[in-house]
Amino acid sequence: MKLHTLGTGGPMPDPRRNASCYVLEAGEAKLMFDVGRGAIASLAKKGLPFPRINPLFISHHHVDHIGELADYLIASWLAGRREKLRIYGPPGTKAIVDALMGSVYARDVEFRTGGETVFGPFISAEVTEVRAGAVYDDGAIKVSCAEMEHGHGLPFTSLFRQNWICLAWRVECGGKTFTFSGDAVMSDALVRLATGSDLHLQCCYMAASELRNDHLKGVGKYTLACSDTAGKIAAQAGVKHLVLTHFKRMEPALLDVIAADVRRDFAGPVSLANDLDEIEF
Ligand SMILES: [Zn+2]
Repeated sequence: MKLHTLGTGGPMPDPRRNASCYVLEAGEAKLMFDVGRGAIASLAKKGLPFPRINPLFISHHHVDHIGELADYLIASWLAGRREKLRIYGPPGTKAIVDALMGSVYARDVEFRTGGETVFGPFISAEVTEVRAGAVYDDGAIKVSCAEMEHGHGLPFTSLFRQNWICLAWRVECGGKTFTFSGDAVMSDALVRLATGSDLHLQCCYMAASELRNDHLKGVGKYTLACSDTAGKIAAQAGVKHLVLTHFKRMEPALLDVIAADVRRDFAGPVSLANDLDEIEF
C-alpha cells in the first residue's frame, strides 16, 4: 500500500498545511479519506487521477474534513469520473451531499449540464451512512470503522451528541493493514481498531506542553489526541509504524517536541507527516 498525505493540518489556516485529506493506494484501488480545505489543489499537484479515486471515506462533519466535498464531486466529474462516487460516512452525510448538490450548487450543475453539454449528465454520489463494523468489501479490500470520541465530553445537548458520529477507519488489503484515527482522543475503541496496524495514521494536534489554558486542556482531553497520548495509543495497539498528522499551526521547533514526547511512549518508528508526502508500506 502507499499513503499520500495531502492535508496534514487542522481547522486553523496554515500556509504550510492543508486540512484533512489522504489517498491510500491499495492494490489497484485508490481510496480517499476526507476532503478538507486544499484537497483539490494537492490532488492536482500529486497528479493523482481524479476519476479513479473511489470510494471516499469521511471521518466526520467538521469543515476541515469535508470543506471541498462539493468541489471534489464537480472537479472529479469534469476530469472524467463516469461512475458514481461511493461515499461512506457517518449518519447525516447524505443530507450534506443532497444540500450541496441539490441546492447550494444546483445552478453550477445546471450550467455545466444544460449549457455546456459536452460533459454529459452530472454523475453525483452514492452515499452509505455507517457507524461501526464492516462497511466495504470488494474481495480484495476490506474496510471497517469504529465510533470515536471527538468532543463528546463537551457540554453538548444529548440530541447533538446522538447526531455527532465520528469515525476511525481500518483497511486490509494483500496482508497489510492501514488505520486512520480521524479526529479522536484515546479510547478503547481506537486502540482496538488500530491493533496490529502496519501504518497507523494518528491525529496529534499539539505538543502537550502547549496545553496551557482551560480551553486547550479541554482540547487535549476531549477533542484531539496530543503528544501526551498519541504514542500511548500506538503502543497499546502494537502498531508497526506511527504516522502523526492533523497538526495545529505551530513553530517548527514544536514538532520536534511532539516527536520526542511520542517517542517516550512508543518505541516503534514515528513519522510526522507533511503535505504531499508518500509513504509505502
Ligand atoms: Zn474534527
